[in-house]
Amino acid sequence: MFARIRSFFTYLSYRSFLAVGSMYVAAASLIGFEMLAVILGYATIWPVGAPLAVIAIGLYVLAKRLLANWRRSRVTIDLVSNDSTEVSAEDESYLLHAIEVARQSRANGNHPFGAILVAPDGTLIEGQNTVVTSGDPTGHAETNLVRRVSAQLTAELRRASTLYTSTEPCAMCSGAIYWSGIGRVVYALPEQMLGAMVPAQDGEPTMDLPCREVFARGGSTVSVAGPAVIPEAAAVHEGFWDS
Ligand SMILES: [Zn+2]
Repeated sequence: MFARIRSFFTYLSYRSFLAVGSMYVAAASLIGFEMLAVILGYATIWPVGAPLAVIAIGLYVLAKRLLANWRRSRVTIDLVSNDSTEVSAEDESYLLHAIEVARQSRANGNHPFGAILVAPDGTLIEGQNTVVTSGDPTGHAETNLVRRVSAQLTAELRRASTLYTSTEPCAMCSGAIYWSGIGRVVYALPEQMLGAMVPAQDGEPTMDLPCREVFARGGSTVSVAGPAVIPEAAAVHEGFWDS
């Protein structure tokens, strides 16, 4: 009789071992082996350990999901907080200057984009688009401007400066602005409006990636203002992309 009872318990513990073992395999694939080692510690005091292990797995998976959600929401908050500056009347006059540079780019046989940088010491530097005349597809107005600015201004001045551009900077130009450490960007025409104007030529004519996203992914503190509703910003493109 005693032997029977003992073999029944041996059978039970064998079943438990299988159950807990398969639970561990499932848990390892979910949460990784480091956490599993902790749970194994709990489970050594079976049968109290197993429910604790289940609770620990549940809590850990839940915490991991909550943390991931919180991180995602942080990115959104950062994107919004980059909108802390608005387009002032002074900004608008500088945007009109940038659009005038875009008009000059077009008159010189290039694409109708222009940018200027205004430093707190009164320095004003212009950047035209040179894609056609230089034969360099990376000759965007902002990238050209950033190269010029970086050669002329210190890092401190760049940080305190504002870059004005006729159209929202593309991902490449946003990257250049980010690496140069320019503190603020103000743009007139949004990228999506440009995308609607430019026909699909060879491959993708524009990138559908807002500059705020590029800056936020870099974790930088570039503040962005725009789009600014200025009729001249769209007018400078009129008839250019039709052919
Ligand atoms: Zn660009």
